[in-house]
Amino acid sequence: MSENLRVAVIRGDGIGVEVTEAALAVVEAAMSRVGLPPFIYDEIHAGAGYFAETGQDIEPGGEARAGEADAIFLGAIGLPSIRHADGTEISPHLRLRDRFGLYAGVRPVKAYPNAPQRLADPRAAGIDMVILRESTEGLFYSAAAHGRSDIREGEVRDTLRITRETSEKLFHFGFRLAERRKARGRPGRLTCVDKANVFASMAFFRGIFDEIAPAYPQIETGYNYVDAQALDLIRRPWEFDVMVMENMFGDILSDLAGGLVGGMGMAACAEIGDETGLFQPAHGSAPDIMGQDRANPLAAVLSGALMLDYLGEKASQPALTDAAQLIEDAVERCFAQNALRPMEFGGDMGGQAMTKTLLSLI
Ligand code: ATP
Repeated sequence: MSENLRVAVIRGDGIGVEVTEAALAVVEAAMSRVGLPPFIYDEIHAGAGYFAETGQDIEPGGEARAGEADAIFLGAIGLPSIRHADGTEISPHLRLRDRFGLYAGVRPVKAYPNAPQRLADPRAAGIDMVILRESTEGLFYSAAAHGRSDIREGEVRDTLRITRETSEKLFHFGFRLAERRKARGRPGRLTCVDKANVFASMAFFRGIFDEIAPAYPQIETGYNYVDAQALDLIRRPWEFDVMVMENMFGDILSDLAGGLVGGMGMAACAEIGDETGLFQPAHGSAPDIMGQDRANPLAAVLSGALMLDYLGEKASQPALTDAAQLIEDAVERCFAQNALRPMEFGGDMGGQAMTKTLLSLI
């Protein structure tokens, strides 16, 4: 770990460019508030626009440089109008996920005051949970890009792969995350979401969870089958803290959970591996609103806070964790004062106005 932390920045396409600008401005303001120098940025060109210009989806050497940085921040990549010859979209970030083994997909889901809530129950205001989605194997082991489907006449088989090595890392990550949240006043509970009653792979997954749980006696554990978890996310989401699950289950439930507390513009995301982490808003490049200052930058801003938190732990620099907390508190406070009114939710504020408001309160 270098003394001056280095962040690889891939702004990408569409609103990715706008929300990255906002996120980095807020991150820098928070770092300055706690007396830290700004990161050293390594800008890496990648995405559909870059592909249209050069025929490559990421600049030469860009992947390796991303891996050498202490963290990677990504805006959004892909434009439906620009594709590879086989019709697939430009997605170099999926290679980064594979190349750097970014197994821990972290999706925080939190209700903010005055932001949309889809459930009438007043307890929905207390939603504050994390979906931890394994991101390198599971059913996505057979994702089309990997070419691992078994395609026969009249039948196609996709494989769901669970390995001990990745599952152990995932569960340790989940328990440590629950511990860190507990230290900040959350319940400290980890729920294993699976389908262990039907699939051997899922029973294996749960078995590894059970082997690891005793190492974290202060964390309460629970189990839920994925179908019951979907129901419970509608019936009583405020009772959950951290939920850990296979890739496909996490893909589906993180969208469902995100939908409970707003829209894509609120969905922050981290993908963390042994050596590095990639931080990006969960939304895409949203070409329908690009260049109009209509994008909600909060998913990117909150992803920036996740990055600070990650680097704080990785570099043993508590001031970075404090900077992350400053951002989270500022978002919470602004919503409470109705000072953040994203157009995404019918409000009157564009991305720049929202960023300005946040900067004034950090
Ligand atoms: P991808 O497949 O690349 O993730 P997608 O097809 O899921 O992309 P997005 O680009 O995420 O689509 O956009 C989906 C819809 O959500 C669009 O109508 C877009 O306008 C809206 N949207 C996405 N992100 C934001 C944002 N940050 N602020 C406001 N609206 C957004």
